[in-house]
Amino acid sequence: MTGMSHYPNLLSPLKAGRTTLRNRMIMGSMHTRLDMEENGLHKMAVFLAERAKGEIGLIITGGYAPNTAGLIEPGGPILTERSQALELRRVTDAVHQHDGKVCMQILHSGRYAKQPECLGPSDIRSRINKFPPRAMTGAEIEQTIADYVRCAMLAREAGFDGVEIMGSEGYLINEFTVLRTNDRTDEWGGAEENRHRLPVELVTRVRAALGPDFLIIYRISAVDLVEGGATGDEIDRLAKRVEIAGADILNTGIGWHEARVPTIAYPIPRAAWRFAAARLKKVVGIPVVASNRVNTPDVAEEILAAGDSDLVSMARPMLADPHFARKVREGDADKINICIACNQACLDLIFSDRSATCLVNPRACRETEFDDAPAAKARKVAVIGAGAAGLATAAEASRRGHKVTLFEASDRIGGQINLARAVPGKVEFDEMLRYYGGRISEGGVDVRLNTAPSADDLKRESFEAVVVASGVHPRTPEIAGIDHPKVVSYTDLLSGRKKAGRRVVIIGAGGIGFDVAEYLCHSQPGEAPNARRLDLAEFQAEWNIDASLVAAGGLKGDPLAPRQSPREITMLQRKATRPGINLGVSTGWILRSSLAKRDVKIMASVTYERIDDRGLHVLVDGVPQLIEADTIVLCAGQEADRGPFDALKSAGVEVHIIGGAKEAAELDAMRAVDEGVRVGYAL
Ligand code: NAP
Ligand code: SF4
Repeated sequence: MTGMSHYPNLLSPLKAGRTTLRNRMIMGSMHTRLDMEENGLHKMAVFLAERAKGEIGLIITGGYAPNTAGLIEPGGPILTERSQALELRRVTDAVHQHDGKVCMQILHSGRYAKQPECLGPSDIRSRINKFPPRAMTGAEIEQTIADYVRCAMLAREAGFDGVEIMGSEGYLINEFTVLRTNDRTDEWGGAEENRHRLPVELVTRVRAALGPDFLIIYRISAVDLVEGGATGDEIDRLAKRVEIAGADILNTGIGWHEARVPTIAYPIPRAAWRFAAARLKKVVGIPVVASNRVNTPDVAEEILAAGDSDLVSMARPMLADPHFARKVREGDADKINICIACNQACLDLIFSDRSATCLVNPRACRETEFDDAPAAKARKVAVIGAGAAGLATAAEASRRGHKVTLFEASDRIGGQINLARAVPGKVEFDEMLRYYGGRISEGGVDVRLNTAPSADDLKRESFEAVVVASGVHPRTPEIAGIDHPKVVSYTDLLSGRKKAGRRVVIIGAGGIGFDVAEYLCHSQPGEAPNARRLDLAEFQAEWNIDASLVAAGGLKGDPLAPRQSPREITMLQRKATRPGINLGVSTGWILRSSLAKRDVKIMASVTYERIDDRGLHVLVDGVPQLIEADTIVLCAGQEADRGPFDALKSAGVEVHIIGGAKEAAELDAMRAVDEGVRVGYAL
């Protein structure tokens, strides 16, 4: 059976303007920070070439500023000179070598620019930028349009097939289009036609300068998700105007960066925003792109089949698997490594000034560090532990030709991933299990469940190398009364072995404490875990989203309005620091908001005294306090399980230790997979 029969829409070519795309899959724009690294353009070329080789229909680069005021941050990507264009040829040539197409995004950051000299339509500051914008003069607006035109012409000289004019996400163009950020009284403000003038002029003049062969994509804010944003009717009229001005493709952006509604992270149901693209598809004749939380070929095909869009944009999924499109075409969709929308290795790294990579694919943006050649000599390898680290090792080592045996003490693969997937919204972790399950069976890995071999057992089978990935044990803190029946561990709770009552105290406010609180807020006392899947109507209700777009910005109320909780929850930590400080930058706020809406109490600087029938006795700033509880959940971190590592080491066996077994503190799936893949390469 060929892939054709499953994904006829996804695989059909599309003509946009005078350009034909080989399929309906677009790699959406991402700021990876690769180009800011040493030798960055080479890395970028290798990174994008791999995606072109993987048969993506069209690549859109991260945003390039048309002038210095438009820079997202000092030192960010910019295209203002011919010499820069000539250097970029390396990137476009690399893509074209694999018959790919690539458009450069032009992005003026407007009032989001992380620089003191930032500009906007008006001097209205954004809550997410400490630098207030200065209102542009009429002459500066004219000059900015000229800068876009120059930038587009340079992009053509650099060999790009077209440009994407970034009009969404609350950046400059978007700021012009709504009253929230534009209180001008000249021809660039006030009446809707004036507010739409900047995007219309930009598309018109870029088209006039570059002629009909050059692809122009306009990325429209299809729903702003901010108070005072555009209504659906206004967005429709803007779409119509940019179409008439000469855009070939209408891409969609979802939500301003300052929106208090999550738009791409794991708690958002797949394809949650298709309504916004579907609406525009009824308005314009040019192809429309659906974007955000489209991560599997089935979801993408379904959107196209329903006629909700003509193309689908997938950005992070192209980090997770560069060969997504090729696998779809070859009927290997089940072998795709799916983006789980965790944001941990992409957005969160970028926000901490590092280059992006991917939790499920550590090779992403690090292509030059990995050599894909098979191992020089096939070896007999044992991997101890089938959690994230061990699975990644086994998959990689077997792919490279080693003969791998994977030992797992429990009755299933997955380790802590099996717990994560019980947390509301983290069902995407299922994809990791599916993917690795597939890879290890493809690699002929001998999986031995319910088996925890000793060093002697391993020596008897004469493995040439052993990788210890035996993970962690949850820590049991020393508190008087810790054996009380109302005390449960997070593993008991998330695995469904134990249930929690109505009044719950959580000891430990790290990543797992927050996840457990979220889990408890969304399940009735006594309800089994995994009973809840992501539900679109619930998601929209949770954040007050108006999918009809009658309300301005697509918001029918405060996204952070209080919600009912089935329980009373208190989270505690000993440290005085702000609880949740180590949660992911791009997802922590979602968890914190969700818990705050449900009145979850979070206390720092707590000393634990004892547990009894009434609850947990603590000292807060030295003052005794009783927190009454039916259930006390331990989320007090983990301790490493080094398994047979030390014994093997002293016996002179080649042995590696990775993941939680190596270092329990700071353990997360990102480091586990990265270490697993790297040791798999090193064997
Ligand atoms: P963690 O983030 O290190 O938190 C452990 C918590 O336990 C802390 O709040 C700590 O606070 C408390 N604790 C430590 N020792 C204790 C003791 N002896 N007695 C009482 N309390 C103690 O670890 P985790 O929550 O178990 O998470 C494990 C890893 O998974 C983390 O690296 C985390 O990043 C990752 N993870 C991430 C996410 C995410 O959202 N990205 C979600 C889940 C897990 P005090 O020491 O101040 O009391
Ligand atoms: Fe997707 Fe997570 Fe990879 Fe980012 S790090 S691309 S969100 S799987």
